[in-house]
Amino acid sequence: MFAQEFVLKQRTEILHVLCSSGSTEHLERVLDILLAQGELIWEDYQNIQVPGRALYTKARQLLDLVYTKGVDTCELFLAALKQVLPEAQIVGLSFAGCNSNLEEKEEYQSTSTHTLLTQRPSLVSKLLGRIDGALEALVISGHFTSADCDEVRLPIYTPSQQARRLLDHVRPKGESAAKVVLQYIQQKQETGSALNQEKLTPPKEFLKYQKKLSSSVSAQSCFLSTYGGTSHMSLDDIYTEGQLELAQYCADVHGPLGLEDIVGTVGTVNEEADTVLVSGEAGSGKTTLLQRLHLLWARGVALQQFLLLFPFSCRRLNSEHRELSVKELLFQHCCWPDRDQEEIFQFILDHPHLILFTFDGLDELKQSFSDEKRLCCPTQPAPVHILLFNFIQGSLMKGVRKVVTSRPEAVGPVLKTHLCKEVLLKGFSPSGIDCFVRKHHSDNTVATKVLESLQTNTALLGLCHSPVLCWIVSQCHKELLGCGEGSPQTITDVYLMILQHFFQHQSSLKSTVGLGWFQDHLKTVLHLGQLAFEGMKNTCYIFSGTDLETCGVTENDICMGFLIQSKDLSSNHDKHYEFLHVTMQCFFAALYVVLSNNTDRSTISKLFETKDMWETDLTNSCFRACLPSTYQQECSLGDATAAETSNLQITATFVSGLLSKRHQSLWLQCCPSAVMEKRIRQVGRCLSKGMQKHFKSIPQPVEGEQKSMHAMPGFVWLIKCIYEMQESRIAKDAMSKLEVDHLKLTYCNIGPVECTALAYVLQHLRNPVGLQLDNNSVGDVGVEQLLPCMHICNSLYLRNNNITDEGIRKLIAKGIQCENFRKIALFNNKLTDACTQHFSHLLRTKNNFLSLRLGNNNITAEGARQLAEGLKFNHSLQYLGLWGNKIGDTGAEALAKALESSKTLVWLSLVGNGVGNAGACALANIIKNSTTLEDLWLTENCITRTGVERLIEALEHNTHVKSIWLRNNDLSLEEVEEMTQRESRLVF
Ligand code: ADP
Repeated sequence: MFAQEFVLKQRTEILHVLCSSGSTEHLERVLDILLAQGELIWEDYQNIQVPGRALYTKARQLLDLVYTKGVDTCELFLAALKQVLPEAQIVGLSFAGCNSNLEEKEEYQSTSTHTLLTQRPSLVSKLLGRIDGALEALVISGHFTSADCDEVRLPIYTPSQQARRLLDHVRPKGESAAKVVLQYIQQKQETGSALNQEKLTPPKEFLKYQKKLSSSVSAQSCFLSTYGGTSHMSLDDIYTEGQLELAQYCADVHGPLGLEDIVGTVGTVNEEADTVLVSGEAGSGKTTLLQRLHLLWARGVALQQFLLLFPFSCRRLNSEHRELSVKELLFQHCCWPDRDQEEIFQFILDHPHLILFTFDGLDELKQSFSDEKRLCCPTQPAPVHILLFNFIQGSLMKGVRKVVTSRPEAVGPVLKTHLCKEVLLKGFSPSGIDCFVRKHHSDNTVATKVLESLQTNTALLGLCHSPVLCWIVSQCHKELLGCGEGSPQTITDVYLMILQHFFQHQSSLKSTVGLGWFQDHLKTVLHLGQLAFEGMKNTCYIFSGTDLETCGVTENDICMGFLIQSKDLSSNHDKHYEFLHVTMQCFFAALYVVLSNNTDRSTISKLFETKDMWETDLTNSCFRACLPSTYQQECSLGDATAAETSNLQITATFVSGLLSKRHQSLWLQCCPSAVMEKRIRQVGRCLSKGMQKHFKSIPQPVEGEQKSMHAMPGFVWLIKCIYEMQESRIAKDAMSKLEVDHLKLTYCNIGPVECTALAYVLQHLRNPVGLQLDNNSVGDVGVEQLLPCMHICNSLYLRNNNITDEGIRKLIAKGIQCENFRKIALFNNKLTDACTQHFSHLLRTKNNFLSLRLGNNNITAEGARQLAEGLKFNHSLQYLGLWGNKIGDTGAEALAKALESSKTLVWLSLVGNGVGNAGACALANIIKNSTTLEDLWLTENCITRTGVERLIEALEHNTHVKSIWLRNNDLSLEEVEEMTQRESRLVF
């Protein structure tokens, strides 16, 4: 009772000590503590902190409130006062009876929003001096607007009041905003503690250098270059998260990776290595992702464990022909220290773990990775690629974190041995596409229209998973929305669309009636085409003024926007250019191959000569051979880079697309039709021949086994070329000779785009096949793309492909109508009980269905019950796999009941499903009755002796069952021994 009386009786004194200074600080700190302790709820706090209310009024209201809340609250209030007020003032109050202690609340609360409350007093102090950084983090993550920031930063607030206003503003923004703040603070502390631990006091010059470097990194990374030719788009406005996954399965990692996980410890496979590889196809967003990381670091919002970040582009490093020391490389290529170079470099050498290097586009480096030439001395000059290879290996600058990006083709086994982990960048998710389009169009009606038109053209939607194509599609929204029936289907269509878009928007020529736009700009196409084509043979992606001149590229051609000025290589006198994106260079090279009269007759066949491309390192020579001899002499005879191979393949894909009959109206005006017909025939022959080579590599099957083909590199590319041509005759011809029972395309980077092409081509197969697409990125959109070839698939293996219930709905709706379709494997996707009704329908209606495998998804008892409904009416199913779901006893009972009288079931797996004795007893009934069941898998459940006894009993009536697997259940060693003796078919 004492505390409550005290609050009442000493009201005047308390008010005085809280408010007489005129500062709200004491009162606000008391409020912080009471909120953290849960004595005040948020509404109480808001009722007190009404803006504009006088300090005394607030304090009085607080006193009223704590009094009415009772003795406990009063005690805590007094304890809070004691903590907040200076000693001298406490003396004036008699606190004798106040024994309440303010406990530190548990550090980790269930939600971030909750943590913001319980940790409020310490968060306020941790935010001091970091308000700007925290606000920036909130703006970048999209939680705060600039108006929010302005309110927090009002000059009338003291720093700690600003911190509190920040927390107050974060709360209504929800959990993810709260998370951003907590992460930001944690990061800052980690950096701080890393520095403290080492008692680091970087030299003054170092700090100046750090500032200079970060402002230069920030300036370089705040705009996106693809927009350079048209308008400036800031990265903040357009950046959309891509899908990041670990290349190696990691049991601890669930869900997608975040940007910071790239450099974090998650998924590390080699603790000793310092290099992280981010791999992704051309246009998947690797450069943009690094750009984002650079910007966040430069703003102090992410990666703050690194004091310096040195960004490199391998494309630009190709132009460095001098031998450099590490110091020269860092300072000359990234940022020059105005003073004290030696000290700064020494600091870098002494603290490697505080430094981050990024290398964009390792695949574009003229030299392929090799770890043969060792270099350990940071002061010894060497060619830049040798420096880079030694960084990656860690023989040079050990401890410095390195992030390298590359296309997957460039990542050979030797490079892999030096990686601490590999992260795959898989383009946009379906919601990413949505988000990107909305960011791209500030006008919401336009965004909605674009998205609607994408939904009606799933082939195009599939393409939009690639960010570069998503950008083109968004950029060309007017053309897209205007073209109705003829909306783009292939990658070539999309690139032609942007060609038309740029010409019509940048040009003063307005004769754009019909296809006149192409005719009008034919010269530009040929100039840029030649530049692109010749660049390819030299692995040249950056062009000097002289290069442009040689190919006749004029100022007017440059103005069209396909070329952008190369950032750090251009000085005022000597400008350098590159194509908006490497795929754009491939597209122009293809236009040149198709339209020019100056290329060698064998150009096309050499371009499609895949054998050399993937079997040897002779890519250069294969393409070189199709170039005029003068160029051949200029070529350096080094190894081919993976980018070259990949670029040639992309170019060949465009050549196929451009020679499609659908586009003949474009080129017929520019070239004699006989020439074009010849080129079409040539491409057709190349594709057919390419396929034959693959088919010939198929080994004869062992007797009794199916004839199976595992796709060799290049197979998917050929399929994509055939799709680009859109000529069923060619597809039919190419497929007519494929005679296999099983087509295996596991780990082949198959996404929605590849699925469209696969379905287009495979539907021409003569006999049904098993299509194995395990471990790709098919997703729901890809599943939809596969539907046209479902009738030719007798089994479909889609393990580990990010498929959800929605994808299954569409797949099953089609599968039910396909006579051949009999087996499906969907292990490790994102399926829940919402999809089991579709399988139930399938089982009920399709009485030739043989195998259903749904392991490692999220199916519970309810899902099992739904499946059971279908199973009751099914007379064909032989294999049912539900490994690693959560069906429990109830689910097992439902299934057992439905399968009790099955005359077909051969194999049933309920491994790891929380099945106990009730489930085991029910399953015993299947054993009693079945004349077909051979294997029952019950490993990793919670069955005890009682359950096993029932299984043994059932086995007494059954001679057909071969084994029941019971490892890792609730049985003692003695029980296991005894029961094995009694029944040898039990496997423990
Ligand atoms: P890569 O380096 O893998 O070839 P880029 O990063 O150059 O791919 O991406 C090509 C284009 O795609 C970019 O210029 C940009 O227009 C768009 N893009 C890529 N990633 C993103 C992203 N995360 N957010 C927004 N746009 C992106």
